[in-house]
Amino acid sequence: GIDPLNTIAIEVAAAHDARIVTLAPGLPDAWFDNDGQLTKAEIRALTLAALAPKAGELLWDIGLGAGSVGIEWCLRHPRSRCIGIEERPERAERARRNALELGATALDIRIGRAPEALADLPAPDAVFIGGGASEAGVFDTAWSALKPGGRLVLNAVTLETETLLGTLYSRHGGIMRRLALSRLESVGSMHGWRAAMPVTQWVVTK
Ligand code: SAH
Repeated sequence: GIDPLNTIAIEVAAAHDARIVTLAPGLPDAWFDNDGQLTKAEIRALTLAALAPKAGELLWDIGLGAGSVGIEWCLRHPRSRCIGIEERPERAERARRNALELGATALDIRIGRAPEALADLPAPDAVFIGGGASEAGVFDTAWSALKPGGRLVLNAVTLETETLLGTLYSRHGGIMRRLALSRLESVGSMHGWRAAMPVTQWVVTK
């Protein structure tokens, strides 16, 4: 079982072989069933920090994928809420199962394509764009819906999206950074660094 509030005693958790969700984000990748499209734990922790969740706030997770960012947002506080938008039904279903498994009951999943699927949603306090950023209108729609003082974080792995980020950065400012993650893996009986695709991350406050 999962206890997002950490209210079960450690001994009880141990006796029931429960996983305890820590107070900080960056849960192990293996906790999220996924098809490879997953924001890796280390990148996810930095992404959540940039999204800067506060009690009771609403996140839009555009390009929900396996749901890891939206789920970790929901686990930050009992009143945290997230609307996740995913165009591929099988991924939306996987995210739903992950949310259930991890106790993120405040994740509201909408199957649809951004930007059309963003129309008529309640205004967010923060927006994460993990997919669909190269689609015309996705950034503009999210930016105009974002509340003043709200944060927008956009993670890009393709050159095309990175090019778009350059334009957005010159127009809106914010913080641009490149996150390059390598993890040690086995190479036969020895070990070597396995590099993940570098993520270009843009963080901007409205
Ligand atoms: N942050 C996610 C991974 C996102 S992968 C996680 O950690 O689980 C990007 C996702 O965006 C993919 O599932 C893809 O299907 C979705 N996507 C791409 N363009 C989209 C669009 N225009 N509208 C909705 N979803 C989109």
